Amino acid sequence: MALTKHDKAAKVCDVVNCGKEAERSINMKQIAQSSLKLKDQGVRSAHLCKEHYKAFKKETKTSRELDQYY
Ligand SMILES: [Zn+2]
Repeated sequence: MALTKHDKAAKVCDVVNCGKEAERSINMKQIAQSSLKLKDQGVRSAHLCKEHYKAFKKETKTSRELDQYY
C-alpha cells in the first residue's frame, strides 16, 4: 500500500490549485514565459493537465507571434 506516495505513474498537474491528471511535461523555461503558477517553482520541468497545456500553448504561441512582429 503506497497510495499516499507520489508515484511516477500517477502524475498530477503542477499548476497551483489544480489537481488534474497531468498529460504533458513542459520545460520550466517555457513555463516561465506563460502566466501559469506552479506549486513547486524549483523543478526543471512541470507537468500540465490537458487544460493547462492548452492555456500554456495559447499563451506561448501568442508571445512568440508578438516577438516576430517586433
Ligand atoms: Zn492543471
